[in-house]
Amino acid sequence: MKAAVFDGKNLTVKTVKDPKINESQVLIRVKSVGICGTDLAIINKTLPTPTPLILGHEFAGDVIKVGSEVNQEWLNKRVTSEINSNIDFKCYYCKQDNHSQCVSRKALGIDIDGALAEYIAVDSYMLHEIPDSLSYDDATFIEPLAAAYQTFEVMPLDQNDRTMAIFGLGKLGLLLTQVALSKGLKIFAVDGSHKKVALAKKFGAHYPLNRFEGPNIPNKIKGLTNGLGADIVVDTTGNPLALKNVIASCRTRGKIHIKSTHGIDTPIDLTDVVIRELTIYSSRCGPFDKAIDGLTSGKVKVDKLISKKYKLEDIEKAVSSFEEIHHHIKTIIHI
Ligand SMILES: [Zn+2]
Repeated sequence: MKAAVFDGKNLTVKTVKDPKINESQVLIRVKSVGICGTDLAIINKTLPTPTPLILGHEFAGDVIKVGSEVNQEWLNKRVTSEINSNIDFKCYYCKQDNHSQCVSRKALGIDIDGALAEYIAVDSYMLHEIPDSLSYDDATFIEPLAAAYQTFEVMPLDQNDRTMAIFGLGKLGLLLTQVALSKGLKIFAVDGSHKKVALAKKFGAHYPLNRFEGPNIPNKIKGLTNGLGADIVVDTTGNPLALKNVIASCRTRGKIHIKSTHGIDTPIDLTDVVIRELTIYSSRCGPFDKAIDGLTSGKVKVDKLISKKYKLEDIEKAVSSFEEIHHHIKTIIHI
């Protein structure tokens, strides 16, 4: 089959062996794959992985083969898959239903081969059926949208949480903007791209803020919150330079939430965190059922988030354009 393989230097399309399924797996004919910041972090070598590696973990396709121990009803279903494979269902975290932290887990497209390929074999417990109302392209947003919902799974809101500042309005930031709005939070949406800030405004963000215009962002946010700062500040940029502003934009005794790091060392001065008694949260993989419900109910809209579509053969072009274009949100690869 054809697959986009990262060899430690470049991501190129190669012919590789078709994956074989075991008795508890299904084979998926991949239709649509979203490119993620994590993929770029691997290509840019800030996030080390084994190589050669087929990238891709936000995907949708059809089940075309089912292992002997798998419910045969999965055959021919339109599906997406969770990212965490090799779950043991018996470790400390699995016993608490935290399968995404299983000690033996391996992430598709990061630790083991992913979905930028004609076919992928996945364990059947990772599958989720795609409702008829969602296209394959829509369904590539389920994994990142689940990560957006996870923000609130690990950080339940309390009565004092009324405002949230979101730094970075890429795919995750704009999905999170919509989820946070559905929870009734007042949103400060921060980015350096006019297009992304305008899109956050269109989704309903109360204070769309361009970091290149007017006073610095912490001062802007304090000016809009009686000098306090936002109750919650989320960083989706993975950029160490943003963190100083993230901390400075948070009110005393507020909550910081880190959504991405891209494997980059992040020097931060924690003095302010200690003195002002800030709480730092972080989260990643999340509940697919809530993400699917968010999309089918219309609470979260994704059509405006797709910037470009490419065929698998053009993966090198797709990845380079993704890196270059500042206003770019999400690239989809059709297989
Ligand atoms: Zn486990």
